[in-house]
Amino acid sequence: MKPTHTTGAKSAILLIYTGGTIGMKEDPSIQALRPFNFSQILEEVPELGKFAYRIDSYTFDPLIDSSDVEPSMWLALTELIEERYDDYDGFVVLHGTDTMGYSASALSFMIEGLTKPVIFTGSQLPIGTPRTDGKENLISAVEIAAAKDSEGHAIVPEVCIYFDNILMRGNRATKINSDHFRAFRSPNFPPLAEAGISIRYNEALIRKPVSWGVRPIFHKNLDTRVSILKMHPGITPQIVHTILCGEDTRAVIIETYGAGNAPSKEWFLSIVKEASGMGKILLNVTQCMAGSVNMDIYATGKCLKEAGVTNGYDSTTESALGKLFHLMGLCSSNSEVKSRLECDLRGEISK
Ligand code: ASP
Repeated sequence: MKPTHTTGAKSAILLIYTGGTIGMKEDPSIQALRPFNFSQILEEVPELGKFAYRIDSYTFDPLIDSSDVEPSMWLALTELIEERYDDYDGFVVLHGTDTMGYSASALSFMIEGLTKPVIFTGSQLPIGTPRTDGKENLISAVEIAAAKDSEGHAIVPEVCIYFDNILMRGNRATKINSDHFRAFRSPNFPPLAEAGISIRYNEALIRKPVSWGVRPIFHKNLDTRVSILKMHPGITPQIVHTILCGEDTRAVIIETYGAGNAPSKEWFLSIVKEASGMGKILLNVTQCMAGSVNMDIYATGKCLKEAGVTNGYDSTTESALGKLFHLMGLCSSNSEVKSRLECDLRGEISK
């Protein structure tokens, strides 16, 4: 990893506040937490004023707990970034931690050919509390969003999550802890940067656009007809059939065991074949926290492959969902979706 670069002196950053714990402060009048006014962010985090950047803020209305996130919110975020793309050098999205992995994944697919950083962050403790982790997360996320190389290009032109000193590719990160400050992990891909005394970027891993001078493509069509089937001992044919063959689903993410294995029982495989025969897109991701699907190792995995199940490799479930929404919105044919699912589009899988 290389040490910190000079951060672009006159960078302009748009701070987008969507809701979540980070923007809360204690309101003594009601003795409860409430969102504070983000246009007064400098009063809450005066350290931001020490940067030589212009920092503007945009607050979503209504502010939401991220458990209420819907694809319409990803659309609003994408449209906002598209509208303001030329006015800023980087974007910081303040978001609740609960579904941050889903939102960062979705945005990574919805914006193709990014030339500027989009850094998601949040916190476990409200910014208005003494031991908050929100200040460090916010200040470093802003610094990363503003960081440029000697040619004036963004150092991290990717959708990322910054949390507890680690910068992760957004579509690789997952929430792993509900009460530690280290709430996120990127189990299948190393950090893009680590913050210590300086911010050290792992440049060899950071994706760069094909051309710096071209505006990204903003994909705004999402098809959300996806279900998730988590395999578990005792699962019944009725449940598997309802999920895999349901009329309203175009695709199902199957969270399998280990390296992509599922029961070898006849009833299970015949339902998978039925769904596949109906043209459903079936995507195999592992329940394991780390590692990849390989449907060639065990007979149980091989049967899935033969039944038409697509390999999700080392994708997180969050990323698989965002990728499916995006590809199904883009392609009308399911066979095209299946073949694109196997491609690495935004650094989300290693093959
Ligand atoms: N429930 C909150 C949310 O995800 C938790 C957080 O912000 O960390 O919006």
